[in-house]
Amino acid sequence: MRKKIIAGNWKMNYTPKETKAFIDAIKDKVSGTPHEVVFCVPYVDLATALEAVKGTDIKIGAQNIHQEDKGAFTGEISADMLVEIGVTHVVIGHSERRQYFGETDLGVNAKAKKSLAKGLVPIICVGESLDQRKQGVTIDIVRLQTRIAFLDIPEGDAKKCVVAYEPIWAIGTGLTASSDQAEEACKAIRDVLGEIYGTAVSDEIRIQYGGSVTASNASELFKMPDIDGGLVGGASLKPDFEKIVNF
Ligand code: PEP
Repeated sequence: MRKKIIAGNWKMNYTPKETKAFIDAIKDKVSGTPHEVVFCVPYVDLATALEAVKGTDIKIGAQNIHQEDKGAFTGEISADMLVEIGVTHVVIGHSERRQYFGETDLGVNAKAKKSLAKGLVPIICVGESLDQRKQGVTIDIVRLQTRIAFLDIPEGDAKKCVVAYEPIWAIGTGLTASSDQAEEACKAIRDVLGEIYGTAVSDEIRIQYGGSVTASNASELFKMPDIDGGLVGGASLKPDFEKIVNF
């Protein structure tokens, strides 16, 4: 049985003060659940968030790392920096990073490997654009992105990864993939992981759905056989996030 993982991707929202206020208000309702709950917050909010969740089982994640250990990479943050302060998860290859910051499939692979080497759980995002869905290549795209993301990752590490299937057309748009569309893509991801590692391993890897998850569609999505929770953007900034976690 895979433990569901429900992660909030706050993107570029909430100052440290707002972070404390939000987490203080919601933490009792989203902790002690059967699921793993993670808040992926902006870098400057990490210390506040870590302090605010102390004494609960809520985990704190970052939204990106650099693939190198250290050096002349102005403006970047390393895995060691995150681990030292208590961060446990990191979002890798979010479509906004691919779209606005030029992240590539091979870069995603490098960041996933660095996260694993440093003990961070990578939440690896894959997903097709609206054009790609219309062209009928959704499954080819998610299979390819998944294959490249997992290049040279040994099976012991692969099991620690989380994959987030996030159709780009559903992110922040209010459009949600139907549970059948989401399941089809998540199953395709599990199938390709099975081809790489065998089904014993792919059956252990958690695959989330992300894209306009709300309190009203979470339970239908999360009950699908290959969907092990969600990566939630806008709705993770609202009190209703509690309803998504307790779907
Ligand atoms: C996301 O940021 O990963 C996301 C899925 O956003 P939203 O839930 O707002 O669509």
